[in-house]
Amino acid sequence: MKNFFKLLAATCAIAIAGCSGLGGGFVDPRSTGAADSRSEAGDPGCSARTLVSTGGPFPNDAQTLAVRWTGYANFELVYNGQIILLDAYFDRGAMFPPLGFKAADVKRADVILLGHGHVDHMSDAASVGARTGAVVVGAPVTTEKLATQNSDMKQVRTVTGRGGELLRFKGYTVEPILGRHGEPPHDVVEAFDRALKATTAPATAEQAKERAEIRARGTSDKRVVAEGTIAYLITLDNGFRILFRDSGGIVTDYEKAAMARVGRVDLALVAVSAAFLNTLTVERALEHMRAYRPDVFMPAHHDGPYNDLWRATEPLFQAMKEENPQLVTVSRVYREPVCFNTANNIARGQAPAATMK
Ligand SMILES: [Zn+2]
Repeated sequence: MKNFFKLLAATCAIAIAGCSGLGGGFVDPRSTGAADSRSEAGDPGCSARTLVSTGGPFPNDAQTLAVRWTGYANFELVYNGQIILLDAYFDRGAMFPPLGFKAADVKRADVILLGHGHVDHMSDAASVGARTGAVVVGAPVTTEKLATQNSDMKQVRTVTGRGGELLRFKGYTVEPILGRHGEPPHDVVEAFDRALKATTAPATAEQAKERAEIRARGTSDKRVVAEGTIAYLITLDNGFRILFRDSGGIVTDYEKAAMARVGRVDLALVAVSAAFLNTLTVERALEHMRAYRPDVFMPAHHDGPYNDLWRATEPLFQAMKEENPQLVTVSRVYREPVCFNTANNIARGQAPAATMK
């Protein structure tokens, strides 16, 4: 067992060094087979910085999962010819670093999973849903907002995350689980907001107008905190599990119950807490890691506008790896792909019992 982890660490170092040296795609360091690494490393679907939903290439192998982060808690997942968008906040305005594409460029998607209805998670869900015909999933407070935006409600699935709502799609299932929105301490947030106001340029009239228009495409309903934040457990047909959590709140009893049932996930895509102080963001990240037990952790919601602070990920990675040295942490820039051979967990005997034949 010890040797396996040594090999894992060595493979990890080689894979990461190799991919940064070549400027190519990330290769799942959990892979123990050279053939797997070769196929993903040479795959345009695992190296192009173009979203598949905006016309980029699919991975060559149907078993390959390609993950691209596109700011805040947006991710594009591509697997088995399917495109899943996690959150939909693309046209962020001139106060933000550009993502390299616009909402209008997203032409193809099968499913959009909305973690919650705040503007920075759903502002483009209605337009992208209409253009792509994707199924759009969200909590009641989220889909109520979609209903006010000329969404075709036949495409929309409202979920509470309280159980019994398993959604089946081509090659995977999605289990909505009621989470909880982040609640960073007011005194900390106010102090940092004051400091930012004092040290950065205020929005121009034009920027403020743009910001208000974008804000109108999300909700600020108070129900978002306790009833409107949904974690999604995505289980591929080969047993590979992904947990998506787009706000850094506490782990709920619903999440604990779901994780007690499934045990672990392969990949966790989890928002960094908005509490500014690393002592607080680390504490929450450890709570998430202990709950979801991922092999691979990718942070979300850590970028910000030009005049705001990005949330540091390294202190989280450091603390998580001190507790779990086998954890693989991955954070890449906008649209850089991260590829996984989803059959690996089966080869390593980590598939759930139901898929182990
Ligand atoms: Zn929020």
